[in-house]
Order: sequence, then C-alpha cells, then structure tokens
Amino acid sequence: MTETKLTFRDLALSEKVLKALDDMGFEEPSPIQAQAIPALLQGKDVIGQAQTGTGKTAAFGVPIVERLVPGQRAVQALVLTPTRELAIQVAEEITKIGRHARVKTIAIYGGQSIERQIRSLRFGVDVVIGTPGRILDHLGRSTLDLSQVRMVVLDEADEMLDMGFIEDIEKILQNTPAERQTLLFSATMPPEIRRLAGRYMRDPITISVTPQQLTVPQIDQYFCEVRPSFKTEALTRILDIENVERGICFCRTKKGVDELVEALQARGYQAEGIHGDMNQAQRNRVMSRFKEGYIELLVATDVAARGLDISDVTHVFNYDIPQDPESYVHRIGRTGRAGRTGTAITLVTPREFPQLRLIERVIKARLQRRPVPTLSDVAE
Ligand code: ADP
Ligand code: MG
Repeated sequence: MTETKLTFRDLALSEKVLKALDDMGFEEPSPIQAQAIPALLQGKDVIGQAQTGTGKTAAFGVPIVERLVPGQRAVQALVLTPTRELAIQVAEEITKIGRHARVKTIAIYGGQSIERQIRSLRFGVDVVIGTPGRILDHLGRSTLDLSQVRMVVLDEADEMLDMGFIEDIEKILQNTPAERQTLLFSATMPPEIRRLAGRYMRDPITISVTPQQLTVPQIDQYFCEVRPSFKTEALTRILDIENVERGICFCRTKKGVDELVEALQARGYQAEGIHGDMNQAQRNRVMSRFKEGYIELLVATDVAARGLDISDVTHVFNYDIPQDPESYVHRIGRTGRAGRTGTAITLVTPREFPQLRLIERVIKARLQRRPVPTLSDVAE
C-alpha cells in the first residue's frame, strides 16, 4: 500500500485508534481508507467500490469505532456481510481496532446457537456484524433492537445480492432509524446495487479504486492447458514444483471440492476442503488450521471463500476456471493482498478457452501460458 504518503495521524483519529492500528501493524492508510475515513468521520454516506484486499474493513471499521458513543448499551452500528466467515473476520478486525476504546462487538450468523447469540446480545454490544438471514431472525424474535443504530454498513453488497439477500437487506434497513449513516461497499456496481443506494442512502459520496491499480499488477497470473481427465495430475505436479506455503484452490462444486481433497490427501498433500455443506464448527476448525499453517492447500467453492481474509496466501489455483470474470478477480484477490505478491494459476481445458479470453478482456491483461510440469521437472 504505497500509493499514499499520508499517515493515519493525518486523518485526525483518536489516540486509542491510532494505538490499535499501530498494534495491528498498519503503517499507512490504503487508498480507500485515506478517502473513505475522512468522509465517514464527517457523517457522510459513502459508496466504496474496490476489489478485495484493498482494506475496506478498516475503511469502515475505523469510523465506526471513532463515532461510537461510549456506555450506551445499545447497538450503534450494524454491518451486514454475505457469509459467516466474513462476519467473523469483520468482527475480529473491528474488535482489534476498538481494543483500546473497549468496543463490544459480536458476530451473528446462521449455524451458531441462537440462544447463545441472544444471551450475548442481552449483555449489551456496540457493534453487530451479521449475515442478513440471522439478523432478520433476531428481529423477528425481538432479540435484537436496531432502534439506536447510527451506522449501517453493507459489506460486499454485490455478493449479498448474488446470494439473494436483497429483500432481507431492505427489511433490515427498514428496522433502523431513517437518520442513520449508510455505507455500501462492493467490488462491482450492478444496477440493483445502484437502485439500493438510491433508495436507502442520502447524497452518498462514491469512492472507487479501480482494479488496475490493485490486484492485477501484484499477482503473477498463469494458465495451463489440460485435458479434463488430467487436471488432478496437473495440479499435483504444479504443487510439487511451486513453493506453495499456503494456497487456495477453487472448484466449481461442493462435490468437486470433496473429490479433489480426497485425491490430494491420498497422494500425501496437506489439503482440506471448505464448503457450504459443512457445519460451522467444521468450517471454523479448517479455517484455524489453515491460518496456523497446518494446511498447505485449502480447497474451496466460491461461496465458501467469499470475503475470507487469509493473509500470506502464496498461490491461488483455479482447478475449475471461474464461470465469470468477476469471480476470477475475486478468487485471485485472495493472494497478493496488501502489497504482497502472489501467483495465480488457472487450469483451462481446450473447450474453456472462450472463458479464458473473456477473463483476459475484462481484466485487460493476458495470462501467461505455462506448460504442465513433466515428470522429470517434478523429480528434480
Ligand atoms: P477488503 O475488505 O478490501 O477485501 P480487508 O479489509 O480484508 O480488504 O484487508 C485486506 C488485508 O489487508 C487484511 O489482512 C488487513 O488486515 C490488511 N490491511 C488493511 N488495511 C491495511 C493497512 N492500512 N496497512 C496494512 N495492512 C492493511
Ligand atoms: Mg472486505
């Protein structure tokens, strides 16, 4: 994140937040943070358009913490995210930012005991981060009171839209005070998102950081042409010659994830899968094993991987080429985060070349062709 020489101190933040950012190792604001934080501190509604890995969480997390009124014992900020993992991640980051300000944050998502969430809510929290379905569930039970909310964040709004949450989001917004501050973050701005913004935001400022400045230049992107029946073999050979410390491999389906994990484990690779059919405890376990470095390759579906902030991922593999260019950008955004470089390798079968060309047109870059390693490459 070297685009700006501005410091966090220049953004007129409190000592408590500056200290927390310092603890987190954040030295200077990312471009989206440098632009969004001042506007948000002034109380403006903000639409932030930026790809993954650009620091959107702190762009809204810092102003949330700064604008909280202490000792209220009422929910003052609400963040909606598309997935449970993202809710947990955002809650962790806001907890860190609010550590010295003693901010109470809770993640509320499906798949976790609702009783436990109700109990935590009763103790009083400042910030709630949740998935739309579970938040609505609490509203229906009157176990969540949003009448004192002053800031609402729609994080990864395009993903929430793709997952069919638009009506839930509208219902939730209708349960918050009209004079709230509304923030919307999204990697893309399809018409539905613009309509949502038009209906629920007041004179929003749009801040966009274009993809060219971000993901793409930091990531070495390759493709390998393979026959469908040779994909697993090709992947293992690549894993053998690449220095994969921590990689994520994307498959199209849950079944594909399970099959690939089995095949890799049988060949002695430290691979584990994550997808929507696993319960929350299983998913959390895999994620922490991955973060701790016990898993070299996390095999995932797009939905399971959405918004996951896994730092230091060295490689992203597209075992199945993504269905559309936007998911390609999302997937490869898992690596090369926050200024680090990464490698993305996409397996392409001969019939999938039109999809590859479409991706290249959208990202305005060519993927370099790499031959599948031969057995003698691997043996060296
Ligand atoms: P996004 O929501 O845009 O995908 P995140 O907020 O998840 O991005 O941030 C991506 C990674 O970059 C996280 O690991 C985060 O802790 C880190 N990060 C964010 N802002 C900064 C910063 N100013 N300096 C250093 N690292 C940062
Ligand atoms: Mg994010």
